[in-house]
Amino acid sequence: MRLLIMGPPGAGKGTQAKYVAEHFKIPAISTGDIFRANVGQGTPLGIEAKRYMDAGEYVPDEVTNLMVRDRIDEPDAVAGFLLDGYPRTLAQVEELDGMVAFTGHSLDAVIVLTADRDEIVERLLRRAQTEGRADDTEDVIRRRQEVYAEETEPLIAIYRERGLTHEVDGMGEVDQVTQRIFDSLNGVIES
Ligand code: ADP
Repeated sequence: MRLLIMGPPGAGKGTQAKYVAEHFKIPAISTGDIFRANVGQGTPLGIEAKRYMDAGEYVPDEVTNLMVRDRIDEPDAVAGFLLDGYPRTLAQVEELDGMVAFTGHSLDAVIVLTADRDEIVERLLRRAQTEGRADDTEDVIRRRQEVYAEETEPLIAIYRERGLTHEVDGMGEVDQVTQRIFDSLNGVIES
């Protein structure tokens, strides 16, 4: 099972990714989480990534692609994975296609979480208070939304043309949204 979850920053991808991945017994791989873990440990990758993350910009493709390639080569991801936060650029879409094709597989579905822009900014500002993420200040949140709209949102069309997208309303209670995702995937994917 090879799944992607896409949607704007703050749409709840990380939260939903965990439930969906658990259900299908595959790892949820979040590029944002891996970057943050590296920042926390002060690794060279973390030091490099932090500059971009703090500004709300994307980490360069070469860095991100290598990191994802290493992660999906790990044993727990051989049977499948759910990627959260990747791909975000056209170069990453192409890189992922190559990685998946190389193993003789293909992507099974792309979950697209939709969300109301104002609601999202509010959510992220609330998260800033509880989690204290360095990139959850108002300016950086707005920049992340802009970068998403410019660079990532247009990529959804690529997967739509391939017939892989499942658009799900990300607004409402967490478990309602999870149920919508399962309903939408139902029939396409056997667990
Ligand atoms: P968000 O809620 O803003 O989507 P994430 O935790 O997914 O947050 O990502 C945080 C930051 O990590 C991004 O703003 C970006 O700097 C970096 N990042 C995560 N995934 C990618 C990626 N695929 N390509 C480039 N940068 C990324």
